[in-house]
Formats: sequence, structure tokens, C-alpha cells
Amino acid sequence: VFAHVVQGPEDPILGVTVAYNKDQSPNKVNLGVGAYRTEEGKPLVLNVVRKAEQKLVNDMSRVKEYLPIVGLAEFNKLSARLILGADSPPVQENRVTTVQCLSGTGSLRVGGEFLARHYQERTIYIPTPTWGNHTKVFTLAGLSVKNYRYYDPATRGLNFQGLLEDLGSAPAGAVVLLHACAHNPTGVDPTLEQWEQIRQLMRSRALLPFFDSAYQGFASGSLDADAQSVRRFAADGGELLVAQSYAKNMGLYGERVGALSIVLKTSEVATKVESQLKLVIRPMYSNPPIHGASIVATILKDRDLFNEWTIELKAMADRIISMRHQLFDSLRAKGTPGDWSHIIKQIGMFTFTGLNPEQVAFMTKEYHIYMTSDGRISMAGLSSRTVPHLTEAIHAAVTR
Ligand code: PMP
Repeated sequence: VFAHVVQGPEDPILGVTVAYNKDQSPNKVNLGVGAYRTEEGKPLVLNVVRKAEQKLVNDMSRVKEYLPIVGLAEFNKLSARLILGADSPPVQENRVTTVQCLSGTGSLRVGGEFLARHYQERTIYIPTPTWGNHTKVFTLAGLSVKNYRYYDPATRGLNFQGLLEDLGSAPAGAVVLLHACAHNPTGVDPTLEQWEQIRQLMRSRALLPFFDSAYQGFASGSLDADAQSVRRFAADGGELLVAQSYAKNMGLYGERVGALSIVLKTSEVATKVESQLKLVIRPMYSNPPIHGASIVATILKDRDLFNEWTIELKAMADRIISMRHQLFDSLRAKGTPGDWSHIIKQIGMFTFTGLNPEQVAFMTKEYHIYMTSDGRISMAGLSSRTVPHLTEAIHAAVTR
């Protein structure tokens, strides 16, 4: 009865890893998926995560009971404070509801489903370009997805005018997806002044912000600095949604731990919204897993572990920034044609190189370098050892 099922396409991002795994070359480099690697090219488990896990294992009072539908209460409270700020008005006034979800993706999906059921304007605007999964997540949640201009290929920077025009002409009340920091795939973020203009425009037109925060602390190395965009909106008294992921900043990729927070106008509304979030979650996966959230809560509530985390987080961010400089210097030293300054200007895990799909295909075929066809490279997959090889490949691709 399933003979008619056709082969589905590989995921554009995760499919890169599938192709990489099949490649036998000793020189192969995977710059596709956004996962942190050490200078030796190995995945990293943070020391502070090991310590927290040890604590959890040693605590014989811990059981494996189901969590509530909304997840671990302590985790939710600490997550809201982490992104919104402990002294932010919605936290202080108890008008934010937070539910533990399956990492960033699950948080976006639960938020999308809630909006489709309970919000009057079912259109969400997402930037062009954006993380490839956004369109699918929100469409399947029941929202109608539209785009706003974001990136200008000519300047390899923000198309701020285009962004303001598109948001300015969006229907009043529409939802707008904003990358809190380290925009994926472009690495281009608005400045704080630009954020302020975006905020004023959105509030004046009653556009509802839905922040995707997948890289807090990963962009600048500072958790507070990377949350500024969200905190400005949280401080002005209006509503917002924010999806948090601990995949990158705690290296908890496979633990699938994240949170959806919704900032409301009053604590009464927050209570009612939470009751409806439970109705979204219960038939989907009943309740979230306990282990990852326990690790995060253990770290966030302990001053020493928290400080240790910020140091390890900054070290990851700094290594990525150092890779940007090494690649930029290497291309300059080789005299590769083009202005490569965007490599050091862009922010976060990725560089949007400007290489076209043909050049990417050439680099994969001839140099065994794997990346998404839009020319995005994960800087965290690069090391001092592989920079010369990537330089050769880019040089050959652009001088062909
Ligand atoms: N949003 C953005 C912008 C991302 O880059 C990612 C991960 N690549 C996610 C959300 C979701 O990640 P996860 O579900 O692993 O937390």
C-alpha cells in the first residue's frame, strides 16, 4: 500500500553532512551544519555540562518521572530571566509565560501553533534569506508565511531601507520573525540604533515580534549583549514571543532543550495563555524530556557553574572570531580577487561568503569542502589546519 511513495529530497542543511559522511577523502571538511568543533575538528562537550551531569548522576533523590506538560518549572523561570534579563519588567511583573520545548525548532513550532489558534493575524513575515526550516515550521503550524527584505548581496550587509519598507507595508498586527542575534545564514545583524528604529516601526504598526534566539552568547561572547534586541522590546510594555535554544550556547544539540516565552500585558493573560500552550503541547508530544533541562537548570542556578559557562562560551565565540581573521588574512595573503572584509564583519557562527552554487559545487567536487549551496560556511567547522585548504579552494573557485 505504500509502493506509490516517492523518494523525498534530503534536507538542504543536514543533507550536506550525509554527503560529507560518504566522501572517502582524507582532506574532506564539513562546513555545512552549524555545530561547534574544536581546533582539532572534534565536537565539544563543555566542562560545565560534564560537571552538571555528574551532579545529577550523584543525586540519588532524582527520579525519571514525567515532567509537567510545560516542562521543568525551574528551567522555565531561569530561561526567561536569561533572555529577558532578571530585572526586566515582564519578569518582575510576572507577566511572562515560559514552556520548555524541544530545542529552538520545537519552541518555534509550539509558538507558531499557538498563534495559528489564538492570534487574529495569521501571517508571519520572515527575512530573506533565513534559516531554511523557518518557512516549513510556520507553514505547517498553520500560518501564512511572507518575506521581508533583509540582506543586500551588493553590500553583503543589511538592506535596512528594504526592511523598513516591507515591515512598513505589512498588514497591521502581522507577526514578524526576528533573529535575536547572529542572523543565520548571513551573519548580518542590525546595529542597536537600527534595532531601535525597527522596534518603533513595529510597535507603531502593532506588528508582533517573534524572536528566534538560537545563538545567545555565541555572537559576541556576552549573553547580555546578544540579548539586547529582545530586551528592548521586552522593556517597552508590549507583547513578544521568543524561542530559545541551548543547542549552540551550551553545546546541548542532541539533548533538544529550549524554551518558548511569551511576554503578555498582565499576569492574568499569561496564565490563560499558558493553559492554551498546554493544549497545543499535550497532543503533540505530551511533555518534554527531563535530562537536558536539568543540566541547564543546574548550570543557571549555581553562580560558580554559571560563571564557568560564560567563560567556556566566550572561548567558543572567540575561536570563531579568530577563524574569521585567519581566513580573511589567508585570502588576502594569497591575493584572491574580491573584497573579503565581510568575513570579519559578519557575526556569529556563519559567513555568507557570496560564493554561488556553481562555485560551491566545484569546491565540493575538487576540494572535498562541504557547505550549503547558498555559499554559507560554518566558521565553527574551520580550524587553523583547514584554513589553507579552504583558501586554495575559494581561490580556485573565484579564479576559474
Ligand atoms: N533557529 C536558527 C536561526 C537556527 O540556526 C537553528 C539551528 N541551526 C535553530 C533555530 C534551531 O536549532 P535547534 O532546534 O537545534 O535548537
